[in-house]
Amino acid sequence: MLMSRVMADCRRFESDSKCSLTIMGEQDEVIAAAAQHAADVHGHTDTPELREQLAGMLEPAEAYTSQREAEPFPA
Ligand SMILES: [Zn+2]
Repeated sequence: MLMSRVMADCRRFESDSKCSLTIMGEQDEVIAAAAQHAADVHGHTDTPELREQLAGMLEPAEAYTSQREAEPFPA
């Protein structure tokens, strides 16, 4: 079965680092890469809770656009 591709887009939310990274691939790959990135660049700790949170932020890869406005991070 073909896995659908998803996207984790750092440009989606406002951040101090104005990170422009977009990660796309199959869900497991994207979550693994995004968790490492969140730890390396954004000072998070790679925990199961973080990965769960990241999973909730995934968008379909088809939603990719070259420009997007950052929205405030949900509280
Ligand atoms: Zn980032």
